[in-house]
Amino acid sequence: MGQEHVREYLLPRREEAVQSHNNDLSPVQIAYLKQKAAFVLPKRVYHYSKLMGVSPTGIKITAAATRWGSCSPQNSLCFSCRVMLLPEETVDSIIVHELAHIRVKNHSADFYQEVEAYLPDYQDRIAPLRKFRTGHAASTPSISY
Ligand SMILES: [Zn+2]
Repeated sequence: MGQEHVREYLLPRREEAVQSHNNDLSPVQIAYLKQKAAFVLPKRVYHYSKLMGVSPTGIKITAAATRWGSCSPQNSLCFSCRVMLLPEETVDSIIVHELAHIRVKNHSADFYQEVEAYLPDYQDRIAPLRKFRTGHAASTPSISY
Protein backbone atom coordinates (compact mmCIF):
# COMPACT_ATOMS: atom_id res chain seq x y z
CA MET A 1 0.00 0.00 0.00
CA GLY A 2 2.77 2.46 0.97
CA GLN A 3 4.53 2.25 -2.39
CA GLU A 4 1.35 2.62 -4.41
CA HIS A 5 0.25 5.58 -2.39
CA VAL A 6 3.58 7.34 -2.89
CA ARG A 7 3.42 6.59 -6.58
CA GLU A 8 -0.05 8.07 -7.00
CA TYR A 9 0.89 11.06 -4.99
CA LEU A 10 4.20 11.90 -6.62
CA LEU A 11 3.78 11.00 -10.22
CA PRO A 12 1.81 12.42 -13.09
CA ARG A 13 -0.09 9.89 -15.16
CA ARG A 14 2.30 7.34 -16.63
CA GLU A 15 1.91 8.40 -20.24
CA GLU A 16 2.11 12.10 -19.56
CA ALA A 17 5.29 11.59 -17.60
CA VAL A 18 7.04 9.59 -20.29
CA GLN A 19 5.83 11.73 -23.14
CA SER A 20 6.87 14.96 -21.59
CA HIS A 21 10.20 16.75 -21.71
CA ASN A 22 12.93 16.14 -19.22
CA ASN A 23 12.04 19.18 -17.14
CA ASP A 24 8.40 18.18 -16.77
CA LEU A 25 9.34 15.74 -14.06
CA SER A 26 10.18 17.48 -10.82
CA PRO A 27 13.42 16.73 -8.96
CA VAL A 28 11.32 14.91 -6.36
CA GLN A 29 9.72 12.72 -9.02
CA ILE A 30 13.10 11.99 -10.59
CA ALA A 31 14.53 11.12 -7.18
CA TYR A 32 11.61 8.79 -6.54
CA LEU A 33 11.99 7.06 -9.90
CA LYS A 34 15.75 6.71 -9.42
CA GLN A 35 15.25 5.15 -6.03
CA LYS A 36 12.68 2.76 -7.41
CA ALA A 37 14.89 1.90 -10.40
CA ALA A 38 17.86 1.23 -8.14
CA PHE A 39 15.68 -1.20 -6.19
CA VAL A 40 14.02 -2.98 -9.14
CA LEU A 41 16.50 -3.01 -12.03
CA PRO A 42 19.52 -4.81 -10.52
CA LYS A 43 17.30 -7.81 -9.68
CA ARG A 44 15.90 -7.98 -13.21
CA VAL A 45 19.36 -7.52 -14.74
CA TYR A 46 20.72 -10.30 -12.54
CA HIS A 47 17.87 -12.62 -13.55
CA TYR A 48 18.40 -12.10 -17.27
CA SER A 49 22.20 -12.02 -17.15
CA LYS A 50 22.13 -15.49 -15.55
CA LEU A 51 19.68 -16.69 -18.19
CA MET A 52 21.74 -15.25 -21.05
CA GLY A 53 25.13 -16.22 -19.64
CA VAL A 54 26.57 -12.70 -19.75
CA SER A 55 28.12 -10.54 -17.03
CA PRO A 56 27.59 -6.78 -17.06
CA THR A 57 30.40 -4.91 -15.29
CA GLY A 58 28.05 -2.38 -13.68
CA ILE A 59 24.59 -0.82 -13.62
CA LYS A 60 24.03 2.91 -13.63
CA ILE A 61 20.71 4.74 -13.29
CA THR A 62 20.32 8.14 -14.95
CA ALA A 63 17.47 10.59 -15.57
CA ALA A 64 17.99 10.56 -19.35
CA ALA A 65 14.87 11.49 -21.30
CA THR A 66 15.88 10.37 -24.79
CA ARG A 67 17.57 7.09 -24.06
CA TRP A 68 16.06 4.19 -22.16
CA GLY A 69 19.29 2.34 -21.75
CA SER A 70 22.78 1.79 -23.06
CA CYS A 71 25.68 -0.62 -22.89
CA SER A 72 29.23 0.78 -22.75
CA PRO A 73 32.19 -0.75 -24.59
CA GLN A 74 33.23 -2.07 -21.15
CA ASN A 75 29.82 -3.77 -20.79
CA SER A 76 28.55 -1.46 -18.09
CA LEU A 77 24.79 -0.96 -18.44
CA CYS A 78 22.98 2.32 -18.02
CA PHE A 79 19.22 2.77 -17.62
CA SER A 80 17.02 5.83 -17.42
CA CYS A 81 14.95 5.90 -14.23
CA ARG A 82 12.05 6.70 -16.60
CA VAL A 83 11.80 3.02 -17.49
CA MET A 84 9.94 2.74 -14.17
CA LEU A 85 7.02 4.45 -15.95
CA LEU A 86 6.81 1.64 -18.52
CA PRO A 87 5.01 -1.70 -18.25
CA GLU A 88 7.13 -4.42 -16.60
CA GLU A 89 7.35 -6.56 -19.73
CA THR A 90 8.70 -3.57 -21.63
CA VAL A 91 11.30 -2.91 -18.93
CA ASP A 92 12.46 -6.52 -19.27
CA SER A 93 12.78 -6.08 -23.03
CA ILE A 94 15.04 -3.05 -22.50
CA ILE A 95 17.15 -5.03 -20.04
CA VAL A 96 17.51 -7.98 -22.43
CA HIS A 97 18.32 -5.55 -25.24
CA GLU A 98 21.22 -4.02 -23.29
CA LEU A 99 22.47 -7.40 -22.08
CA ALA A 100 22.45 -8.66 -25.67
CA HIS A 101 24.85 -5.80 -26.53
CA ILE A 102 27.45 -7.49 -24.33
CA ARG A 103 27.70 -10.14 -27.06
CA VAL A 104 26.72 -8.08 -30.11
CA LYS A 105 27.66 -4.37 -30.14
CA ASN A 106 25.33 -3.33 -32.96
CA HIS A 107 21.74 -3.73 -34.15
CA SER A 108 22.41 -6.36 -36.80
CA ALA A 109 20.20 -9.37 -37.54
CA ASP A 110 22.54 -11.35 -35.25
CA PHE A 111 21.74 -8.92 -32.47
CA TYR A 112 17.98 -9.34 -32.77
CA GLN A 113 18.41 -13.08 -33.04
CA GLU A 114 20.20 -12.97 -29.70
CA VAL A 115 17.45 -10.82 -28.14
CA GLU A 116 14.60 -12.93 -29.51
CA ALA A 117 16.27 -16.13 -28.36
CA TYR A 118 15.38 -14.98 -24.84
CA LEU A 119 12.30 -12.87 -25.57
CA PRO A 120 10.50 -14.26 -28.63
CA ASP A 121 7.81 -11.60 -28.14
CA TYR A 122 10.37 -8.77 -28.03
CA GLN A 123 8.66 -6.72 -30.76
CA ASP A 124 5.33 -6.79 -28.89
CA ARG A 125 7.03 -5.86 -25.64
CA ILE A 126 8.68 -2.76 -27.08
CA ALA A 127 5.52 -1.59 -28.86
CA PRO A 128 4.66 0.85 -26.03
CA LEU A 129 7.95 2.68 -26.67
CA ARG A 130 6.79 3.81 -30.09
CA LYS A 131 4.17 6.16 -28.73
CA PHE A 132 6.67 7.74 -26.36
CA ARG A 133 8.60 9.49 -29.12
CA THR A 134 8.27 13.09 -28.10
CA GLY A 135 10.51 15.91 -27.01
CA HIS A 136 14.11 15.42 -28.05
CA ALA A 137 13.41 11.92 -29.17
CA ALA A 138 10.80 13.07 -31.68
CA SER A 139 13.47 14.51 -33.94
CA THR A 140 15.28 11.19 -34.15
CA PRO A 141 13.97 8.06 -35.88
CA SER A 142 13.55 6.29 -32.57
CA ILE A 143 14.52 6.54 -28.96
CA SER A 144 17.97 5.02 -28.80
CA TYR A 145 18.65 2.19 -26.47
ZN1 LIG B 1 20.80 -1.14 -28.73
